[in-house]
Formats: sequence, structure tokens, C-alpha cells
Amino acid sequence: LAKDAGRNTYRLFTPGGDAAIAADLQIENDLHRALERDELVLYFQPQFECHSGRLVGAEALVRWHRDGRLVAPEEFIPVAEDTGLIVPIGEWALREACRQAAGWQQRLEWPVRVAVNLSPRQLEDEQVVERIAQTLQASGLPAQLLELEITENAVVRDTRQAAFRLQRLRALGVSIAIDDFGVGYSSLSYLQELPVDKFKIDHSFVARLQGPGSDARLVRALIAMAHSLDVGIVAEGVETPAQLRQLQALGCDEAQGYLLGRPVPAAQFLARIVALQRAGHIPVPPEAVP
Ligand code: C2E
Ligand code: MG
Ligand code: MG
Ligand code: MG
Repeated sequence: LAKDAGRNTYRLFTPGGDAAIAADLQIENDLHRALERDELVLYFQPQFECHSGRLVGAEALVRWHRDGRLVAPEEFIPVAEDTGLIVPIGEWALREACRQAAGWQQRLEWPVRVAVNLSPRQLEDEQVVERIAQTLQASGLPAQLLELEITENAVVRDTRQAAFRLQRLRALGVSIAIDDFGVGYSSLSYLQELPVDKFKIDHSFVARLQGPGSDARLVRALIAMAHSLDVGIVAEGVETPAQLRQLQALGCDEAQGYLLGRPVPAAQFLARIVALQRAGHIPVPPEAVP
């Protein structure tokens, strides 16, 4: 939530706001060149099926090698969103993710899906469906192995148009996940109308599964809602075995988080899945299997 609300509030209410604006301008300038200079890289974070422990997919997360430092998305994605640079960056991320994922399939005995974050700006592009179809075709990745993650704010402005585009993407075979599910403002009635395959429970709810003041009611309700709408559900930000056990007990379909694997560069990710394959691919810690 803070991620979305944060920028403008920061600018308006933080003393020294001028410095923040100057820093953003510098990021914008450098970001323009980041793509040409090959400074962006994708990291991949594994996603596991809760009941079987199988690795079923990976989320592609962009990183920026800026002057010898690795910059996290929080620092530059908001600037990229504001300036529209997110469109070329997002297209690059999609191409790169499809290319990498097409390579995995040749090394593996079972299919591993890749999930790519799609910015609201990209979904607003009239050509978005054609572009994605072309990217898939060029990469050789089957559409069934691509998932697109969108946040609720990508669909609030023009829900009918968004729904239509998502429907066309699904017709290609691509699956659609609603990211950061539960923290947005979408009404239940239109969530029901959106053509989506999956909800991703925001990590803030997963964090509340445990510890002082813990409360599982929201997670239980989100899982029940997803299933009653015939939509799959993934928990993100799973950090402890106790959280994973609880998610398994609540019937959550998939899990992603530091407990199961941090985002790593492509080569490391591939090495990990090849190792899992050799080990019989049961990566969920044994104590967490019910
Ligand atoms: P997101 O799509 O919700 O991605 C999940 C974020 O949670 C990632 O942060 C991931 O590293 C982090 N995470 C994963 N497991 C855990 C955990 O167990 N605990 C905690 N505390 N965090 C965990 P990251 O990589 O910094 O990405 C932040 C956001 O940047 C993403 O949130 C997404 O909104 C955006 N983003 C990243 N790559 C892209 C991209 O290619 N395109 C677009 N449009 N947005 C992107
Ligand atoms: Mg995401
Ligand atoms: Mg998320
Ligand atoms: Mg998030």
C-alpha cells in the first residue's frame, strides 16, 4: 500500500522534498540509458505448489546494475511508471523472461511457468495483446507457460477495456494473476467479472499469520473467496515454516517467499531447478509438509 501511495505523499510532506525530486530526475536520466547499456537484469523467484511441494513457476523481477550497485525496483519502478519508461522496460522484461523460460523447458522433465509483472501503462497500450503474442512467438515459449501479474489499479480506470484485453490474452493461453491481492480498492462485484486465473495474496496478510496479534481470518477469507470464484490462489512473502504450514492447512494453492527461495539471477535459478529435478523435486522443507 505504502508503495503505491508513497511517492506523492513523500513529495508533498517530506521536508527536503526538493532533494527527493532531484534524485528522481537523476534516476530518470540514468534509466533512459539503462536499457541501451544492458544495465537491467531479471531475477527469478520460485513458486511452489503447496500440496505437492513441486516447483511450478517463477516470478521475474527486474533489477538495475547502476554504477556498481544493485538497485531494487522500489527505487526506480515508480519513476519509470511516472515517466512512461515502464513501457520499454516492461517489454524488455517480458522478452527476456520468455527467452529464459523457453530455455528452462529444454532442461526439465516438467513444465515451469514464468510470471511477469505487467504495468498498468502496458495494459493501456492498444497493441498490448499483439505485442505479447509476438513476443511469445519469437521466444518459442508456449503461451500456457506465461503468466501476467497485474495489480488492481491496472483495471480500475477502465474495467471493461481491461477485462476485454485480459480475455484476449487468456484466449492466447496466457494466464492472468491479480498481484498484491487484498490491498487495493476493487469492489467484489468487478473482481468477479474480471477474467483472471489467480489471486496473489499480498505479503502483508501472510505476515499476519503469525506472531503477536496474529490473525488468519483475512487469509482464510481470501482463499475461500478465490476458490468460490474458481480462481487459484498464491501466497507471497512466505518467510517461515509456520506460515507455510498454515497456508497448506488453509488450502492455499501455491507459495512464494524467502523461505522457499529468494529471487536469483537466471543462471542460479536454472541451476536450482536442475538440482531439484535430480533430487526428485520436493523442495518444501520436510517439517512443513503436513
Ligand atoms: P511484486 O510483484 O509484488 O513482487 C514481490 C516482491 O516481494 C519482490 O520485490 C520480491 O523480491 C519480494 N519478496 C519475495 N519474497 C519475499 C519475502 O519472503 N519477504 C519479503 N519481505 N519480500 C519478498 P522486488 O523484487 O523488490 O519487486 C518489488 C515490486 O517491483 C514488485 O512487486 C513489482 O510490483 C515491481 N516490479 C518488479 N519487476 C517488475 C517488472 O518487470 N515490471 C513491472 N511493471 N513491475 C516490476
Ligand atoms: Mg508480482
Ligand atoms: Mg505482489
Ligand atoms: Mg508486492
